[in-house]
Amino acid sequence: MKIAIYPGSFDPITLGHLNLIKRASKVFDKLIVCVMVNAQKHPLFTTEERVEQIRLVTKRFDNVEVDSSNAFVAEYAREKGAVAVVRGLRALSDYEKECQMAIINKKINPDLETFFLAASEKYMYLSSSAVKEMAAFGGDLTDFAPRELIDVIQNRVSGGL
Ligand code: ADP
Repeated sequence: MKIAIYPGSFDPITLGHLNLIKRASKVFDKLIVCVMVNAQKHPLFTTEERVEQIRLVTKRFDNVEVDSSNAFVAEYAREKGAVAVVRGLRALSDYEKECQMAIINKKINPDLETFFLAASEKYMYLSSSAVKEMAAFGGDLTDFAPRELIDVIQNRVSGGL
């Protein structure tokens, strides 16, 4: 069974992330979406909240699992018997950081391959930070965040639940 890991902060998960999950889940037998705990110091949502949110919006994908970890990605992948790490490439700015990570992961776990999926045109400029900024200005999140999470994002950003 070919298992892949899709690691990230997902604070919160966006339609760009979801698009990647949908595409990667067709290529691998199992895709583990993993909230990496140390990726961001002051997240909007707790790790547990993010795991629950991702579970909610990916429940239609039979071969997608959701987890969290504070291990290094390459170590986590080894624990799970994964053959690949999936990452998304948006603008040129992602490229350098992502290549650096791929090289480090390969050094730690030589059996692990990094697969880059090009962002879909529609989501090329979409990020969790952009969603949070839009929410802060009361913008319409319909085209950017999963429908089920729009209220919770808007409430949290405005200091509520
Ligand atoms: P990290 O803090 O590890 O970058 P993110 O949650 O921001 O975590 O992103 C996780 C992965 O998803 C990264 O590889 C990122 O490039 C990718 N990604 C984020 N947004 C998009 C998008 N709109 N389209 C495609 N890939 C994306």
